[in-house]
Amino acid sequence: MIIGIPKEIKNQEYRVGLTPAGVKELTQRGHQVMVQKDAGSAIGFFDLNYQAAGAEIVPEAETIFSKADMVVKVKEPQPEEYRRLRPGQLLFTYLHLAPDPDQTEGLIQSGCTAIAYETVTDEHGGLPLLAPMSEVAGRLSVQAGARCLEKSMGGRGVLLGGVPGVESGHVTIIGGGVVGENAARMALGLGAEVTLLDRSVARLRELDHRYQGRLKTLYSTTESVLQCIRRSDLVIGAVLVPGAAAPKLISREMLKQMIPGSVLVDVAIDQGGCFETSRATTHDNPVYIEEGIVHYCVANMPGAVARTSTLALTNATMPFVLALAEKGWQHALKDDKHLMNGLNIHAGQVTNQAVAESLSYAY
Ligand code: NAD
Repeated sequence: MIIGIPKEIKNQEYRVGLTPAGVKELTQRGHQVMVQKDAGSAIGFFDLNYQAAGAEIVPEAETIFSKADMVVKVKEPQPEEYRRLRPGQLLFTYLHLAPDPDQTEGLIQSGCTAIAYETVTDEHGGLPLLAPMSEVAGRLSVQAGARCLEKSMGGRGVLLGGVPGVESGHVTIIGGGVVGENAARMALGLGAEVTLLDRSVARLRELDHRYQGRLKTLYSTTESVLQCIRRSDLVIGAVLVPGAAAPKLISREMLKQMIPGSVLVDVAIDQGGCFETSRATTHDNPVYIEEGIVHYCVANMPGAVARTSTLALTNATMPFVLALAEKGWQHALKDDKHLMNGLNIHAGQVTNQAVAESLSYAY
């Protein structure tokens, strides 16, 4: 099979569809891989690394889209990309079609077969190709929050780990899934005092057992959230209600009861945010202040650490890329119902129920 890796063209996107190590897995099985010139250069995956892995470097995206049987990307195709996709071609990438009617229509018109990373499932009911980005965002949320607590960023000037003789900072994490647990690990590692709230008692039980008393767990109610945020230096929003916008768990009124200069990091901003005062920000301008509280609400946090994110993403996508290349998509999907759940578009039809329902397509 010919597999194509174009350079990402979305603004500020430095990730790339496959690492050189991932490319080698394909070439050593006899597949042909085309990588666009400089696709990974910004994060230290140079053309000569891809060449050493057996890839052919091509100057134009056009060549990749016209020749590849399967295009492997990171971000959803932009208009100039989906216009290049063609019938019978396979696209494997993040799509997030439900809020994006233009892209959905573009993929339908192209006649391609599109498998979305975010709807591939696993046997535990999880989303294995979303999890690595949640791990990255969770870990990064503490790093970003700690930085925002510095005076120069508008923060109250608190060091999360404290020092001998000085109390550590207080961190509250709302939502104890993949993002929340990874945030907790980082905050505990820094020496902060950490409280995590969730609506699932089973999940709190699991985390309590795993962290052996180092992590305080609380059932999440409006009252318990309020009690925690009143004494917190850093609050991290990490909730997810599948298929729904994030619930607003901190109102503006509640915000007024927080200590001035404390920090909110709203990781759930990509689902609308879980604080009333959240609005999406960018890596160029990540922070703003409302009611004296520093807000960090970057919607694509993993992009800040594009090298780590690319490595983590390739680890997760590689088994699926190999299955698709070795068997062809028809057999790969037939053999794996979890990969089948990733199929969003095929031959001009929407093939994912949630996407079809949210955009009023026949399913
Ligand atoms: P997850 O499903 O693993 O965990 C979500 C948790 O939230 C669950 O444990 C659930 O019980 C809990 N929850 C739901 N309602 C709650 C409530 N009212 N109070 C407390 N807890 C509640 O999801 P995840 O992978 O950890 O993702 C969390 C959020 O982070 C999602 O919105 C996801 O889209 C977002 N995310 C954002 C970025 C970014 O760059 N900003 C990157 C990755 C993930």
